[in-house]
Amino acid sequence: MSVKCGLVGLPNVGKSTFFNALTESGVEAHNYPFCTIEPNLGVVEVPDPRLFAIRDIVSPQKTIPAQMSFLDIAGLVAGASEGEGLGNKFLGHIREVEAVAHVIRCFEDENVTHVDGSVDPVRDILTIETELRLADIQTIERAILKIKKLAKSGNKEEVRLLGLYEDLLEKLSSEEAMTTWGDELHQTAQNLHLLICKPMMYIANISDPTDEDNEYVRAVKQYAAGHGRPVLAICAKLESELVGLDADEKLELLNELDMSEPGLNRVIRMGYSLLGLETFFTAGPKEVRAWTIKKGYLANQAAGVIHTDFEKHFIRAEVIAYQDYINCKGEQVAKDQGLWRLEGKDYTVIDGDVIYFRTSA
Ligand code: GDP
Repeated sequence: MSVKCGLVGLPNVGKSTFFNALTESGVEAHNYPFCTIEPNLGVVEVPDPRLFAIRDIVSPQKTIPAQMSFLDIAGLVAGASEGEGLGNKFLGHIREVEAVAHVIRCFEDENVTHVDGSVDPVRDILTIETELRLADIQTIERAILKIKKLAKSGNKEEVRLLGLYEDLLEKLSSEEAMTTWGDELHQTAQNLHLLICKPMMYIANISDPTDEDNEYVRAVKQYAAGHGRPVLAICAKLESELVGLDADEKLELLNELDMSEPGLNRVIRMGYSLLGLETFFTAGPKEVRAWTIKKGYLANQAAGVIHTDFEKHFIRAEVIAYQDYINCKGEQVAKDQGLWRLEGKDYTVIDGDVIYFRTSA
């Protein structure tokens, strides 16, 4: 499933350091046919301890994690919405992704200049979000021009839409947080594919992993809370050091720093969830594999992720909930205990389900 999280940030915030760590820890893009090989696309495995818990029960020949991709989106400068710098390209790339991770500088270092002369994370957030907002305002203005002509005839639906567009324009122009908009305006904004609707997370780049609560990170968290967006503080420099180490050295350094896992893992998981993705597993002696679905997928749609024919020729899904699978140490005991279910097309897959699809394909 090809869904991408875009990585944005002002120059010199540590975005490349972070992206390089991601791609170095990631998989070779050419192994994944859905990825065109682009230097700015990083395909990573989703670190999911559940996959390894299932593997330990089944002992398969192969274990295959889910993947997701990050697109490094360069070219943001103030004025992008007016076509400054790589403005149009930048906005085009943002349109292409389903979620946005914004890397923000939360470290001081006099050797690394800040484009605006000082470290001020909320100002940086606003610089980027202003460009998105201005581009959205242009989109709405165009939509208003179009619908105004149609609404002249007095068609009720068009008059209603015109009212909604005008409301949206007002909210965006007055910079009112989206959390106050209400469902109808949200839906209208989604229908217009506004950039500001993309799920967004903030990656606060700190210099030292113990500095997770510095004043800059606190400022980001406060802003993010007001907009209902998640924040992760990570140290891009440390992450780039970690990817260069072998497994033992990595563990040693993580232990020294009292970290249970690299920060990249947390970012990947948060990106995955921001994209509205969930996982189901297939488990057999040949392979144990994590598959990616959109939250809310029905059983036959999930089957289609494995093979389009499976969706067409879907008969039933044999399902064991993840925790039941682990508690029972596999399928047999789950069956004995009545925890194995046969589900039809209308079953909504639950994150972690272990599934075998019966098909006539
Ligand atoms: P980009 O322009 O946002 O892609 O930024 P880069 O990743 O190229 O980083 C700009 C500079 O900041 C480089 O010299 C990095 O080594 C440095 N840098 C990145 N992350 C950190 C950090 O966490 N702490 C410090 N002190 N420097 C960092």
